[in-house]
Amino acid sequence: AEDPKRRVLKDVFGFDDFRPGQDAVTEALLAGRHVLAVMPTGAGKSLCYQVPALVLGGLTIVVSPLVALMQDQVAALRLAGVAADTINSSLDRDANVAAWRRVAAGQTRLLYLAPERLMTARMLEALARLDIRLIAVDEAHCISQWGPAFRREYEELSRLRGIFPDVPIIALTATADEATRTDIAAQLFAGRVATLVLGFDRPNIKLGIEAKQDSKRQLLGFVQRHAGRSGIVYCLSRKKTEEMAAFLEKNGVRALAYHAGMSKEAREANQNSFMTLSGVVMVATIAFGMGIDKPDVAYVFHTDLPGSLEAYYQEIGRAGRDGRAAEAHMLFGLGDIRMRRLFIDDEDAPAEHKRRAHGRLDTLIGYCETAQCRRQILLGYFGESAVPCRNCDNCLDQTPHADGEAEARIIFAA
Ligand code: ADP
Ligand code: MG
Ligand code: ZN
Repeated sequence: AEDPKRRVLKDVFGFDDFRPGQDAVTEALLAGRHVLAVMPTGAGKSLCYQVPALVLGGLTIVVSPLVALMQDQVAALRLAGVAADTINSSLDRDANVAAWRRVAAGQTRLLYLAPERLMTARMLEALARLDIRLIAVDEAHCISQWGPAFRREYEELSRLRGIFPDVPIIALTATADEATRTDIAAQLFAGRVATLVLGFDRPNIKLGIEAKQDSKRQLLGFVQRHAGRSGIVYCLSRKKTEEMAAFLEKNGVRALAYHAGMSKEAREANQNSFMTLSGVVMVATIAFGMGIDKPDVAYVFHTDLPGSLEAYYQEIGRAGRDGRAAEAHMLFGLGDIRMRRLFIDDEDAPAEHKRRAHGRLDTLIGYCETAQCRRQILLGYFGESAVPCRNCDNCLDQTPHADGEAEARIIFAA
């Protein structure tokens, strides 16, 4: 017989394959286990509870912190023909009453609620009479007091496992940090996580690092090898983004600059061109990228060292969202390390903060200098183990670059 979760994936959502992690999460939930799913933004966390919700039947409660997010999700599910509802403060009384009637009548499969609404005595009492099969806590890092996104309303959610002892709970977050993870598990699952699913690998992105020599020439060569494809080039300074964009333009490449020092209009115009046209190279500072979801970005090129391995991971993650072969390429030189160290030392911050920042920089340098599989190191940093990937420069080229080696030695000596 056909696998019911695959059938839902195909028939309801129209997808042929699960993304990494989605099937493991679904299986664990269907087996009645709690799950902590840690996956980067854009990985497809929603399907991790939407597919099981539809396979399980009955009612799934989804906790989400923002009304706007809930409305979007409910609208998207309804478009796919799924009976989804939300009861929230932005709807008028009649709409909320109508939604509750559908829920109470057993018509609703997924009910989206803000934590403060779910955790009222009235709501919990009413829900206890219904056939609840799954609870999903989205943006679960909001429960962690240590994190910057802490929400007091999320704390209350630690009562859920006592109130619904037989219902599997899935917590979803994009925050990889170990302390946050432990905290989520402690509060939602009393410290026990039956299944931890991590999904940080982006196997279609080839990882590469090259010793920095003549960045302009090196960039041009790389861009020309990817002619006609869209790409993002990250530079450390505003001035450099403009210089690099002009240099590419002069050499026949369609390139635009983007940084926070430009006027809002100019920035928006450039962003629009990048999003709507294909084959444009965006040369930007890190001001560019938040919320950018262009599927066909073929590469992310770093002309300078990023601030940390987390930042690097975030930045390269903008490549290859369409699943096609993509590339993350970085130029790495001694001057960059010096510059980054100066940045940290010049910051007006407590000594402890600076010590940590230097530590994070050391981790990134370790990644740059390694002769091992880069993906192993990158994923290892996020707590994931991996076998050598065969899609990074070190895996592809077992004979070390003479140049790279020389450069690395100088850096160690510094
Ligand atoms: P997250 O919550 O992890 O940031 P979303 O759940 O919003 O991610 O999903 C991001 C995008 O990925 C959505 O457009 C979704 O339709 C798409 N997506 C999710 N799973 C799959 C899949 N198995 N195949 C193709 N696209 C998928
Ligand atoms: Mg999400
Ligand atoms: Zn590798």
